[in-house]
Amino acid sequence: MTPMDTSRDPVIVVGGGIGGVATALAFARQGWPVRLLEQAEQIGAIGYGVQLGPNVVPMLRALGVEEAARKAAYLPTQLRLHDMNSGATLFDIPLRTPAFDARYGGSPYMAIHRVDLHELLVDACRAHPGIDLNQSTTVARFDHTETGACVTTSDGRTIAGAAVIAADGLRSRLRAQLHPNDASRDTGYVAHRTIVPMAEAPASIRQHTGVTMWTGPGFHVIYYPLRDRAEMNIVVVVQVPAGVAAEDNARYREHLEAITAHARPEVRDVLALVSLERRWSIADRHPVRRWCEGRVTLLGDSAHATLQSLAQGAGMALEDAVLLPSLVTRFDGDFAHAFKAFEQQRFLRTARVQLESRALWEQYHCDGAQAEVRSAQWQERNAEDFHRCLDWLWKPDLPIVATPTTPSKLLQETP
Ligand SMILES: Cc1cc2nc3c(=O)[nH]c(=O)nc-3n(C[C@H](O)[C@H](O)[C@H](O)COP(=O)(O)OP(=O)(O)OC[C@H]3O[C@@H](n4cnc5c(N)ncnc54)[C@H](O)[C@@H]3O)c2cc1C
Repeated sequence: MTPMDTSRDPVIVVGGGIGGVATALAFARQGWPVRLLEQAEQIGAIGYGVQLGPNVVPMLRALGVEEAARKAAYLPTQLRLHDMNSGATLFDIPLRTPAFDARYGGSPYMAIHRVDLHELLVDACRAHPGIDLNQSTTVARFDHTETGACVTTSDGRTIAGAAVIAADGLRSRLRAQLHPNDASRDTGYVAHRTIVPMAEAPASIRQHTGVTMWTGPGFHVIYYPLRDRAEMNIVVVVQVPAGVAAEDNARYREHLEAITAHARPEVRDVLALVSLERRWSIADRHPVRRWCEGRVTLLGDSAHATLQSLAQGAGMALEDAVLLPSLVTRFDGDFAHAFKAFEQQRFLRTARVQLESRALWEQYHCDGAQAEVRSAQWQERNAEDFHRCLDWLWKPDLPIVATPTTPSKLLQETP
């Protein structure tokens, strides 16, 4: 950790989600004062589970919260996917074997309650004298000069600092300022999320120690234990047919009944635990190249929101958070060049997560011949094959190890 340099102007972080609080912490640990601005009345997370691949553990270490995260996390035994109608196992990827540990340097695959992860990051921020956390502060726009950057809040205040980092999520207002014609991409799917006490889950579900998934045309469900197996996190994802209005619960239920009519009993057991009235629409972003303008950059979902099929949105935000201040240090406090280098270093990896997540989404939900071919392909693979396919993602290539790019080269590449 670097001592705080109080003569510096603060770094302004917009958004207090996982990406924002991790970024605030990472900058403060490199000696930068930080002002974090969150629109909600409380800096908190929605209370569901999140999976973190082994690539994320070194990020938690760099943020000084690895031990706390390991204590709060549950380590699932495998990722197992079944066909929801035939019951066939399509893949079974082990996560808690000596081979896994050796391959990923002892970093486990974690399942953690989002509130626990968020709270341990926020607690670390609160304990750091250089971080000023502000709630009920909605940012409307950014501006920047050669020497600084500022935001204007929706109630007309200007808050100035050395740089602005927009970690304001999938529907980022600051991204809209940078890319006025770019919108989030709605998939036509909705998610239902719930957490049930393990004691209340039927035995068919309670028995599982890993991440369990069932897939079918236009549908998948995923569940895994949290908090030392005291709770089960459940996410049901459904394609909403054209013509079924969001508020038409009766027709929506009819549709769900029809697509799960031949599903295995366990799938129907899970559905019985979920409230179908609460739905999140599922959207992502197309990869875009320009994340920054001068001393302002996007980070996390605002830069590269992804579908959850690879379970890596929060993981990518944590990787961003750790890398960014190290680049600012490497560029000797030259934010504009550091931000350009950040985008350059992160674009390919995050775009790959976005596009592979879409491809996997398609594979989860396809039908007919496409589904048969997919199942045959997956069933041909063994654990080693799956690990090899995931190495690009799970073996961390971060942080701080890439070859420095010279400032002049970066400037030439500015679009
Ligand atoms: C169903 C589902 C399951 C998922 N599962 C996983 C998983 O298993 N693993 C994983 O890694 N990822 C998962 N994700 C993705 C993950 O949740 C996101 O990628 C991650 O939370 C992004 O963090 P963020 O901080 O960038 O954005 P957010 O969490 O969206 O935070 C943005 C913050 O900015 C604030 N804000 C917005 N606008 C403003 C403004 N104008 N001014 C001030 N504040 C503002 C918001 O209130 C919010 O607090 C899942 C997502 C979904 C939908």
